Amino acid sequence: MATWGATGGRATTGAADDPAVAKLQALIRIPTVSDRDPERVDAAAFEAFGRELERQFPLLHALDRTTIAAHGLLVHWPGASAERPVVLMAHLDVVPVEGEWRHPAFGGDVVDGAIWGRGTLDDKGQLVAVCEAVETLLATGFTPAQDVWLSFGCTEEVSGSGASDAVAELTARGVRPWFVLDEGGAVAHEAFPGVSTPIGVIGVTEKGVTSLELRAEGRGGHASTPARRGPTARIARAITRLDASAMPSRLPEPTIELFRRMAPHAPLPLRALMSNAGRLAPVLARALVAAGPEAAAMTRTTVAVTTLSGSPALNVVAQTAGAGVNIRVMVGDTVEDAVDHVRASVGDEHVHLDMIEANEPSPVSPRDEAFELLEATISAIFPDAVPAPYVMMAATDARFFTEICERVYRFAPFRMTKAQREAIHSYDEHLGVEDFLDGIRWYRRLIEGLPS
Ligand SMILES: [Zn+2]
Repeated sequence: MATWGATGGRATTGAADDPAVAKLQALIRIPTVSDRDPERVDAAAFEAFGRELERQFPLLHALDRTTIAAHGLLVHWPGASAERPVVLMAHLDVVPVEGEWRHPAFGGDVVDGAIWGRGTLDDKGQLVAVCEAVETLLATGFTPAQDVWLSFGCTEEVSGSGASDAVAELTARGVRPWFVLDEGGAVAHEAFPGVSTPIGVIGVTEKGVTSLELRAEGRGGHASTPARRGPTARIARAITRLDASAMPSRLPEPTIELFRRMAPHAPLPLRALMSNAGRLAPVLARALVAAGPEAAAMTRTTVAVTTLSGSPALNVVAQTAGAGVNIRVMVGDTVEDAVDHVRASVGDEHVHLDMIEANEPSPVSPRDEAFELLEATISAIFPDAVPAPYVMMAATDARFFTEICERVYRFAPFRMTKAQREAIHSYDEHLGVEDFLDGIRWYRRLIEGLPS
């Protein structure tokens, strides 16, 4: 079993010398930062990354492979059977560096038993863990019981076409995956206040990201002769009305199951409430709403006003004012429900709603044989952890695969503290060396355990 977390001491003897660690370090040092604007992408970095990956994993690269969306990769590892193919996903692009880092963001330093740098958790650690598991199994001449596909995206962080291109390629080849596994959950330490047992949370659905633009128009004019209720005032009123109204809260089924599984490990006063989460769902939902924005987001569709626009000059009354609204649609609600809520809350026919993007929540993946395989693999490698389903708040490339697959799961086999989870897309991102090696073991075990 792994020692957990940065203990302030040195890495466990030998672990940092594992060749897989040097591979991850080398890949962290290549800054594959994606951007919505292709002009601003450092294509040379992505090409260098591809060459380094090929150098590190020659057996994997000798398999049938297809380039996806310029720098992504789809690899086919034929198994004994093609009946229940499995897709293992990861992405090689990262978000830009922000904040003050304790160790250089593109340094890949190993300090205090951890590998530091942008992408260690999101998502190069996962990428290298998958590759190392496959490469070492290939080296032993192992044949998986089922076809294994590896799908590595290059545009995940900018919602690019990488994942949908991979889906199109699989569709063209007639592949209907038995299950798909992508980033998302983790072996989460400090998952819930008072619960000290790590929870192996497997995302079974994710919220749908939808964006609207509120827009009000008027005559504009000189700021010395303003009229009442101009575009800016209407938008301001719309925003305060939206801020004062929330969509109804409730507990979706996967969250009820998550609470049930955490219950035996929760502090006594909470135990009864959590183990009866199904019956007490309304009470629990209200408690979560009161517990703060993060907990509240678990219970409902959220609506956030983000961008604002108005007059371009201090002495000019705006002819058009606008506000961007970012909505995360909860499973059980639809885009239409959310738009209706916004329209009703704003209550002003002079405020127009323009749809920017509309995505429904992902369907809930079943907890059948494939889910049980993930649970069993978690229990084997992380015996102290409790596997559980959950609803993901963030969006992943996995959502595109729901088109061709009923069982889409989101889980990275790494232990993560609360601080580590908060470091994702922020600063001081790091992955424990032992935890990284456990992740490789987890993937090996998963591939070896595919049923015939
Ligand atoms: Zn990611």
